[in-house]
Amino acid sequence: MRKVVNFSAGPGVLPEEVLFQAQAEMLNWHETGMSIMELGHREAEFKQVAQQSEADLRELLSIPSHYHILFLAGGATAQFSMIPLNLLKENKHADYVETGVWSRKAISEAKRYGNINIAARTVTEKGLICIPPQEAWALNLDAEYVHYTPNETIDGVEFNWVPKTQGIPLIADMSSNILSKPINVTDYDMIYASAQKNIGQAGITVVIIRDELVKDPLPYTPGLFSYQAQVENHSLYNTPPTYSWYISGLVFSWMKRQGGVAVFAEHNQRKAKKLYDCIDSHADFYINQVHPDCRSQMNVPFNLKNQELTSMFLTEATQAGLANLRGHRLVGGIRASIYNAMPEEGVDLLVNFMRDFVRRHG
Ligand code: PMP
Repeated sequence: MRKVVNFSAGPGVLPEEVLFQAQAEMLNWHETGMSIMELGHREAEFKQVAQQSEADLRELLSIPSHYHILFLAGGATAQFSMIPLNLLKENKHADYVETGVWSRKAISEAKRYGNINIAARTVTEKGLICIPPQEAWALNLDAEYVHYTPNETIDGVEFNWVPKTQGIPLIADMSSNILSKPINVTDYDMIYASAQKNIGQAGITVVIIRDELVKDPLPYTPGLFSYQAQVENHSLYNTPPTYSWYISGLVFSWMKRQGGVAVFAEHNQRKAKKLYDCIDSHADFYINQVHPDCRSQMNVPFNLKNQELTSMFLTEATQAGLANLRGHRLVGGIRASIYNAMPEEGVDLLVNFMRDFVRRHG
């Protein structure tokens, strides 16, 4: 394990094996005498990278052939606009579920293009954030689509169920939990995720979209933002972030070597349980404000009851080699992001540090 354990929410920790491979291949990728980032994106060599990464992702998530896989630039934030531009017809509306900071950002972008209905939002009961059950949602049966955020990276709120939308296309922003557990892709009509958490390096965003959803966008949509144009061009409408795409491919094949998504799901559950157990067993010292039914397995935010100790916690953690535990600037506190590439020993070190911190300051 590396000297520092990186709990960053994103760009986040990458598998050491992938970093070594990228390093070894840097100056001479597959005997081309060049690095992959110096190769033209329309050359046969790069196409090999593109096709293999798509095939590996398809295999990892069992993505059926009637779903296209796109590798696009602009982060998940670009998708906040691409989705309404492509799927929200003029004078129509869409439903959004508001569960935290990222779904709110998706909502405010979508509002530029059409009527947005908030079908449900999280509530705080007895001091704990809860996701309202599906029965309490106000879905519009004539909505063009329903958008939700299965894992809220900042708030640490994760769905452990998939909404049923009675035939309305379901779109999921899986930026911070894609590939963390098996999913049934056909439960969704579109899934998107920026890469810098479980997929690889910042700069690329994966879009998995059912073929029927790929149609004419609103007339003023920039060409680059059209799913149809991107599908027709195999994500090569313009020059894509080739190095980020390559790193994604290395991460996918690393995941396959480890045994696939189910193996990661098991590790992730164990890692998250260790951390939440530690928080709960020191309930007079640490607090997590999310209902146990929707606690995130990827991003664990918590506060110290005595908030004056927060900066000391962060300083001492950094000195102990536990990096990037500061909570998001909007909410403060502490946040441990424990993505796929976070080894269990990293979580053990954090838990030991947290227990020791209680002993010394509790
Ligand atoms: N959605 C979620 C759930 C995220 O966590 C993030 C980034 N942290 C985004 C969207 C935005 O991604 P990007 O910065 O790649 O645009």
